[in-house]
Amino acid sequence: MDIQTLAAAVRNIPDFPEKGIQFKDITTLFQSGEYLSSLSDIMYERYKDKGVTKVAGIESRGFFMGPALAIRLHAGFVPIRKFGKLPSETIEEKYLKEYGEDIIEIHKDALNENDIVLLHDDLLATGGTMAAAYSLVKKLGVKKIYINFLIELENLKGRALFNDDVEIDSIIKFEI
Ligand code: AMP
Repeated sequence: MDIQTLAAAVRNIPDFPEKGIQFKDITTLFQSGEYLSSLSDIMYERYKDKGVTKVAGIESRGFFMGPALAIRLHAGFVPIRKFGKLPSETIEEKYLKEYGEDIIEIHKDALNENDIVLLHDDLLATGGTMAAAYSLVKKLGVKKIYINFLIELENLKGRALFNDDVEIDSIIKFEI
């Protein structure tokens, strides 16, 4: 299945959750078993030879395909959650959102120096969320980090927050 077909299944909702945002609704893509398994195949093909030991997904839309991909890669799954949700010892990272600040956390013992990590979220917009997750995972001293998104909004230039040596991949690209 080509990427254009998958892209066409993403529903665009103008002005949600606030005016000026073109919200990319992935629920319409996920409704189809055919699209879902095609998406899973594409992601698996891209990472099957990278030696990934853990997929780390960002709450909450990184929890849809993250575990699915982890199962196919025979890797573990690690949640990166919003502040106050994880029950054991955590490290945290603050980041700026359009309005105010947010905090994400990961369990301190979730990753170690032997891990090759695939960091996954549904969508790259300005990049703030993933940049915070990336520095969180880096703090745990892992061997290598790959970054993956289902969707990238290219005009928002979220990639610019990362150094050139960081391997960032997105499956479906929209201008905005
Ligand atoms: P950012 O930190 O600006 O890259 O925003 C990325 C996070 O916000 C992701 O977790 C997305 O789920 C969500 N997000 C931002 N913009 C959109 C959008 N236009 N449509 C859907 N989700 C979005």
